[in-house]
Amino acid sequence: MENRNAIISVKNLIKNYNDFEAVRGLSFEVYEGEIFGLLGPNGAGKTTTLEIIETLREKTSGEVVVNGFSIDKNPINIKRIIGVQLQAAGYYPNLNLTELLELFSGLYGVNIKPMDMLAKVNLQDKAKAKYKELSGGQKQRFSIATTLINSPKIIFLDEPTTGLDPQARRNLWDLIIDIRNQGTTVVITTHYMDEAEQLCDRVAFVESGKIIALDTPDKLIDDLVDSGFERKKVVKKANLEDVFIHLTGQEWRE
Ligand code: ADP
Repeated sequence: MENRNAIISVKNLIKNYNDFEAVRGLSFEVYEGEIFGLLGPNGAGKTTTLEIIETLREKTSGEVVVNGFSIDKNPINIKRIIGVQLQAAGYYPNLNLTELLELFSGLYGVNIKPMDMLAKVNLQDKAKAKYKELSGGQKQRFSIATTLINSPKIIFLDEPTTGLDPQARRNLWDLIIDIRNQGTTVVITTHYMDEAEQLCDRVAFVESGKIIALDTPDKLIDDLVDSGFERKKVVKKANLEDVFIHLTGQEWRE
């Protein structure tokens, strides 16, 4: 990355739940304009860390600065410039997508055209549909649209492709890359390493509340290969997912 301007800076972050140390001295920076992946096993402390940065959870100690604002002193300023996915429970069941977007934009105090937001995620034809009537991929795309309502500088995506079919997943990657290309910084968690490899400019591996590696996917893979690591099985030129995509096409269809 050429642009090394840190938009998120986390220093020595600690979070204890009673006497359990969930986050144990995390430090990292997210650069402006990158897609940054937070990877690691369940329970590693990723969600806790993200929610502290999003000003939704209290830290025990450490320093977090987002776009120049401290989470201790300027949480309101941070809220204004970030986009966070709502839990599905936040989508009132009787409202259609247009009405939901109008509601959320009212809550943010911004003036958006619902159709423009739906166009960003290719859901114009679902403007009058209810959330529960959408496919898994469409739900995720709608939820990403809601993070963009306040034209945020940073969006946070927590496992956005979990449970999606291969096409829906690739379509979502295109969407996320598009959002990044328009200047928004993206922080994402995923359990799919192929996804992190395709999508992320840099990734941090978190384990037991600590960062155990942080770099570009390319560099992390090269370092492993340089250490003498070899895959046991010879890799074929395609995999079963390639077969799936080849057989069923790659167009937006869900
Ligand atoms: P991840 O997102 O990497 O799966 P979490 O941040 O959700 O990890 O959780 C990290 C650890 O902190 C886990 O052991 C989890 O059980 C614990 N934890 C998370 N939230 C709470 C809470 N509100 N109270 C007590 N323990 C919690």
